[in-house]
Amino acid sequence: MFKTLCQPDGIKGCSVCCGLFNLRDISKKNLESFLSGDSSIDALNDVRDITSHICIHQSFISKNRPGCTLHPQIQGTDHRNSSLYGAKICEEYLCPAHSILNAEQKQLLVSSVTDWYLYSIAILDPEGFICIIDIIISLHLLTTSHNAASLISEALSFHANALSQSATCYFYYSQAEYNQHKVEFSLRYNFKEKSLLRKHLMNILDKGVLHRHHFA
Ligand code: SF4
Ligand code: SF4
Repeated sequence: MFKTLCQPDGIKGCSVCCGLFNLRDISKKNLESFLSGDSSIDALNDVRDITSHICIHQSFISKNRPGCTLHPQIQGTDHRNSSLYGAKICEEYLCPAHSILNAEQKQLLVSSVTDWYLYSIAILDPEGFICIIDIIISLHLLTTSHNAASLISEALSFHANALSQSATCYFYYSQAEYNQHKVEFSLRYNFKEKSLLRKHLMNILDKGVLHRHHFA
């Protein structure tokens, strides 16, 4: 079975733990090229952490939906044992986002973000996603509104741009490792980025593209 955060619906999916964001160039354009089978992208050498595997079996399993091409729901039978990790690990693994985000935050993420790349940024940095929710709440926006969904995507895009400026490693398999390294990249611990993001979102509101609502 597909797991909720991994393949939450038919319009987006995640392959972050398959090593996607271990590529050195994590721009959406480059990752989409990789997922589309661009063989000029070197998944062995052009990487962030040489000890982390980038699985060649991840791809777009449908339009704008990264996933596993060896999965039984794609192949009919399970072919994941031909990968480095094997079917058991691929099936049972849950990334830190599963335990860091509560049910409400997961629901908000799945219902607000339609773009696979921005969705992956939230999975990669779950505390950063919680921080984005906190900022939007502090701007007195209804978290269920269309405006809030647009602002969440805008904020994730802003964070993605900040992440792409650094060569550090981003994905950590365990929550303990994530906790150890999160101050190096998580939006939640980067006060300058948080302040710039807040100003950026307020500029968008002030331009009247989106409207501010107050909690009832
Ligand atoms: S990174 Fe997390 S949400 Fe994404 S596919 Fe892996 S376990 Fe699922
Ligand atoms: S075989 Fe495992 S690591 Fe490779 S794409 Fe599939 S789920 Fe990801």
